[in-house]
Amino acid sequence: MALKISFRRIEMFKKIETGKIYDVIIVGGGPAGVVAGIYAARYALDTVLITKDKGGQMSEAGYVENYPGFKRILGPDLVNKFYDHLSEYKVPVVLDEVVNINRSSSDLFVVETASGNQFKTKTVILALGVIRRKLGVPGEKEFSGRGVSYCAPCDAPLYKGKVVAVVGGGDSATSAALLLADYVKKVYLIHRRNRLRAQPFYVRKLTMHPKIQLVLNSNVEEIGGTKTVEWVKIKETGEKIRVDGVFIEIGSDPPKEFFKKIGVETDKEGYVIVGPDQSTNIPGIFAAGDCTTACNRFKQILTAAAQGAVAADSAYKYVIEKFGEK
Ligand code: NAP
Repeated sequence: MALKISFRRIEMFKKIETGKIYDVIIVGGGPAGVVAGIYAARYALDTVLITKDKGGQMSEAGYVENYPGFKRILGPDLVNKFYDHLSEYKVPVVLDEVVNINRSSSDLFVVETASGNQFKTKTVILALGVIRRKLGVPGEKEFSGRGVSYCAPCDAPLYKGKVVAVVGGGDSATSAALLLADYVKKVYLIHRRNRLRAQPFYVRKLTMHPKIQLVLNSNVEEIGGTKTVEWVKIKETGEKIRVDGVFIEIGSDPPKEFFKKIGVETDKEGYVIVGPDQSTNIPGIFAAGDCTTACNRFKQILTAAAQGAVAADSAYKYVIEKFGEK
């Protein structure tokens, strides 16, 4: 079982051709960004994809069982397949963080990265995904990497035969619990309410699973141990549940500060407001995937991928209309 993301075949540049004007710069390397890259390349758009990490949330997903063509595949394995596909189109992937996007003269955008590179482009596709929430309790930071984890598929093999807790009640928490149950002796799923938010498919599987115990109406107040995690304390009862690891899966938020900085319009929670063509309030900037309001904010790999395709199609039309035939 491959739990690591391999990027052997991906063309990665650290040095950029200065002065070059790209047709489209894709910011973010999750499913929306990768699919935008594939479609942009098929439209012969001069494209570069800039991302902090490969795969986004997908790289931290457990078993994916609702992406057509794959009855059951681990998130990181699906990431590898996406990037393998992208590499067929020779779209350059730059591992860097975009820190600002400005409009220059002549209707171009200047995309600045943390490492000091600047890219000029006719269009931008924002596919930044979302940022994981932290619990914010004592012990979370201290034991991060020493029992506190945010990635079940990455770390599950480390807990073979041990006892772990998963915190959260959505699809991420339940799918993480189901994945972990394949490795560990016991999983406590700790959720703050008496009802799980997850899809009924997961809830049914989870409640029938002999290794998973639900701990409802419970908030984690503290994570403790000596060198590594040994327990989580439940606020409501004061009970310390003995565990070897804690997986935090309590959802995520869009990178609202960045969106504010570049001036794209968001809803009150910070998701980029997009039209049916994935356009934003700024002509030439499109957005796709979990960071947007599209698809009724139904966050799936499938919907993110579809939005990536639509965004690339819209970027193509924009480039043709504004800058002429390619
Ligand atoms: P989510 O749906 O927002 O669920 C977050 C869960 O964490 C909720 O149960 C929430 O409790 C709980 N929570 C939030 N803040 C908390 C806190 N401070 N302390 C304790 N608990 C807290 O997030 P998600 O599960 O990461 O899913 C995000 C999106 O991705 C969803 O749209 C989901 O459908 C999608 N997704 C899909 C799949 C799939 O289809 N296979 C897999 C993973 C994710 P409350 O319920 O009380 O609010």
